[in-house]
Amino acid sequence: MSAMANKVNAEARIEKMIVRILSEAHDKEAEKIAAWKKPTEDLRRLVRHDYVRSLRKNLPYRELKALVAGFTDLLPGFNRHFVGMMPTYQLAEHAANLNLHFKAAPNDGDDGLALRGFYVTRKEGILKRPLIYVNTAHHPLAVSSTFCHEVGHHMSSEILGEDKETPVHFFFDADYASHLEEPGELAADVMVSIAGYPEPVARRIFASEWEGLVAKAKDLSEDALLDVRGHLKKAYNFELTNQIPGAQMLHYLSGMIHYAKLRWALLVEYDI
Ligand SMILES: [Zn+2]
Repeated sequence: MSAMANKVNAEARIEKMIVRILSEAHDKEAEKIAAWKKPTEDLRRLVRHDYVRSLRKNLPYRELKALVAGFTDLLPGFNRHFVGMMPTYQLAEHAANLNLHFKAAPNDGDDGLALRGFYVTRKEGILKRPLIYVNTAHHPLAVSSTFCHEVGHHMSSEILGEDKETPVHFFFDADYASHLEEPGELAADVMVSIAGYPEPVARRIFASEWEGLVAKAKDLSEDALLDVRGHLKKAYNFELTNQIPGAQMLHYLSGMIHYAKLRWALLVEYDI
């Protein structure tokens, strides 16, 4: 067979695999999809949660530094400047630099929005290289963030040699409370958080949050939340209430609170 035919064949196989995984996500992860339909429960847990405790338990400093170094190789200026909202062609370039398969496509029918994306390791039989899928039915900022999350899984497995057992990592929207209990998911989310809030921004937003207080990163003040919204507007021209359809509003609000609290906790616990 010619090289060209081989390539077409491989692409068709990967395409088929993605369709299969998407349909499996829908059938096998019914519990996650049911939770996605009741976003207030996740939100309530996040608001109350002590993020410093989760970080301390699930992400050692040495691993955090290794992952930040990996991301800095891919995205120069990581944690010094915010990572811009990346269009899909740019995501494809980054994926190519990491020697990954990449697929960006909308998955919008039948609860499809519940899924933000997934990362597939080489374990999944037919793959010579790992694969990242992002669901482009989401807002471009969410798509870009999903990509960072999945690259986080990839770096964890490449640099730290983790996640050898799970062939497919699903990212369900607003499933953040569960991420706080799983080291691999938490590490991936930490990378998203740093991408959006580099150190200088984090220091400015959260400075007033811990003066004279016991470091806990528990309840985000109204002032901090205002600063978070201001930063997202300035950096990404992102406005939750104007740009996100009502049905997704609470999911995106969860994301905003989750990544902000995570960033605050990183500052408090690791001074990064
Ligand atoms: Zn994940």
